[in-house]
Amino acid sequence: MSDAPVVFISGASRGIGAGIARRLAAGGYDLWLNYHSAHAEARALQEEIERLGRRCRLLPFDVADEEAVAAALEPLLAEETPYGFIHNAGITRDTLLPMMGRQDWDRVLSTHLTGFFLLGRLFSKAMLGKRKGRIIAIASVSGEAGQAGQVNYAAAKGGLIAACKSLAREVARRNILVNVVSPGLIDTEMIKDLPLDRILPMVPMNRVGTVEEVAGVVNFLLGPEAGYITGQVIGVNGGLHM
Ligand code: NDP
Repeated sequence: MSDAPVVFISGASRGIGAGIARRLAAGGYDLWLNYHSAHAEARALQEEIERLGRRCRLLPFDVADEEAVAAALEPLLAEETPYGFIHNAGITRDTLLPMMGRQDWDRVLSTHLTGFFLLGRLFSKAMLGKRKGRIIAIASVSGEAGQAGQVNYAAAKGGLIAACKSLAREVARRNILVNVVSPGLIDTEMIKDLPLDRILPMVPMNRVGTVEEVAGVVNFLLGPEAGYITGQVIGVNGGLHM
């Protein structure tokens, strides 16, 4: 059995989450990978990671479903406490507020924010017992600066930032560090329908970022060199928000 530290990542079947999983596997971590429905992608990623010699457990569930979260994680946490918890699962339901349906609001808030509450409650409790751990949430420049058409998403991401700062204060004395990585435009499915020709001129670096550029910062925040960093929001946005 491996004694490598375990990191749990929510929303890891695709995009940024999968990029973080690849980076952490290369860095020697074992992984618990959550996703919602992309079974084929998740299984392919699991095989890729196991070929690197790392343990990789797949945990398909909806992060906003309290019963599903508990059923998947409580038996595992009774055996083992992950060193890291990365809350990355996310969705968008963009539209202007007057047109926004109640479901667009509820679904976005529940995935980002209730998901963090349900997962963070379990992982922080387990980590407190071990007196060590790292918690990282993936927010967004929208949660820092606001974004037209994203009242729901910006509220969720802004809430995530405030939740992480509060949790950071609660657990710092127990050697648990809580930080936020806040990406700008990153090349994944999530931005495939955005009018990049109109948006890119607003990005000082005039390009989208890569999942690897986000994953590298997450890897740093998990490592020993980030041992005195907590309650921080680290932008990975090409200068879009300063
Ligand atoms: P993708 O759409 O590429 O991937 C989203 C991931 O989240 C998938 O693995 C998906 O699983 C999972 N997911 C969605 N809903 C749930 C749920 N209810 N329960 C469990 N898993 C879920 O998005 P990105 O990789 O682009 O985004 C990752 C994170 O980064 C999000 O939080 C997003 O808000 C944030 N972000 C992204 C930016 C970008 O430009 N791409 C910019 C700023 C922030 P499945 O495949 O099974 O559906």
